[in-house]
Amino acid sequence: MMTPLDQIAAALQGYDPKSLPAETVNAFLDQLVLPLQATEAVGVFEALGRVLAQDLISPISVPPHDNSAMDGFALKGYELSTTAPTTLRQAGTAYAGAAWSTPLAAGECLKIMTGAVMPADLDTVVPVEFVQVQGDQITVPPGLVKPGDNRRLLGEDLMAGQPALRRGERLGPAALGMIASLGVPEVTVFRRLKVAYFSTGDEILSLGEPLREGAVYDSNRYTVFGLLTRLGIEMLDMGVIKDEPAALEAAFRHAAQHADAIITSGGVSMGEADHTKAMMKQLGDVAFWRIAMRPGRPMAVGRITQGDRTALLFGLPGNPVAVMVTFLAFVRPALLKMMGAKPVPTLYTKARSTEALRKKPGRTEYQRGVVTRSPDGRLSVCTTGNQGSGVLRSMVEANGLIVLHHHQADVAPGDEVDVMLFDGALS
Ligand code: AMP
Ligand code: MG
Repeated sequence: MMTPLDQIAAALQGYDPKSLPAETVNAFLDQLVLPLQATEAVGVFEALGRVLAQDLISPISVPPHDNSAMDGFALKGYELSTTAPTTLRQAGTAYAGAAWSTPLAAGECLKIMTGAVMPADLDTVVPVEFVQVQGDQITVPPGLVKPGDNRRLLGEDLMAGQPALRRGERLGPAALGMIASLGVPEVTVFRRLKVAYFSTGDEILSLGEPLREGAVYDSNRYTVFGLLTRLGIEMLDMGVIKDEPAALEAAFRHAAQHADAIITSGGVSMGEADHTKAMMKQLGDVAFWRIAMRPGRPMAVGRITQGDRTALLFGLPGNPVAVMVTFLAFVRPALLKMMGAKPVPTLYTKARSTEALRKKPGRTEYQRGVVTRSPDGRLSVCTTGNQGSGVLRSMVEANGLIVLHHHQADVAPGDEVDVMLFDGALS
């Protein structure tokens, strides 16, 4: 019988689970992942990092009235001579926040502050520095200002009834300001995604346990915690799970019952003699892949069902760097889609490689890089040295990943390469 995963695989071009191109992994996950449905209303402060679930229709126009863009003198544009100086009488002052309502006589102008409402019969502002003032007379030289200059129009930013923000927008600092500027106290966002995660492996120690021969401290749970926190995801930390069927079964069942997605690390590589893969297979519809990439070849993906609840499974490799790279390349975009966020293309920064990089076509390589600005103003990138997939130090020192794409070959010094800057995801 074809499972839902088999069906996705069958419909994908060039699907080979033993050597899956990175792009095909993303295409597969895009088919597998469905956005959340549930929404909730939150206040503006709480909305930071959340995903808007409905278009936000502006209840007001911004700005709500024509206003001055400069400190200066407001006048009727048709009274300005284009050939000779124009002299006008200052009839008063219009301040921001207080409307001037008396109509002006011919030959009169108003002193006006930035942001002050433009009186109905005035359409032009002459900046204060262009004007000669003598008592209540001002003189404007010809040719400096045209009718309509230095005035912001009603609704120039946004007209009432138009969408100010779209469904699927991840709300950042600018969006919070925009929501507030419309006088809107609450917005409807998707509910927070909940992710359960645990580390597997008998050699993995939790903090507080004494170090013993052959064992290593768990670092993956802490990196995953950091990566999920940056996405504003609710988390269920399930600790380190021993490589025993009963412990693994209980962990997967609990996770599937309580979370939208499960992230595990370790136990999915080909040579593994452990029970993790067997338990994933037993409890869910799971595909086991070898991805044409470095680092991070093995990965398991699927769904685990427990009662009426189903959670997406991301079984990441065990190597600490591979965990971070597979998370950034595949898990992060998939989680963003689940959160309801509209897709955004990966933005690569171009930088010149300061060194030769060996690269075999037919796989995607992610090298840890340090991007700096050269004296000529252009960006350069060097690697952090040892690119072993267990070397977490290389991730700490890097400020981005050099992405050597599937078909790309060796890079010569001075060649431009694509860099995925860590930016908000890791920093
Ligand atoms: P595995 O994918 O289980 O074969 O693990 C590959 C390598 O990553 C092994 O050297 C493991 O000891 C190491 N590893 C696995 N899980 C973790 C973890 N949670 N923290 C640190 N290292 C790990
Ligand atoms: Mg292992």
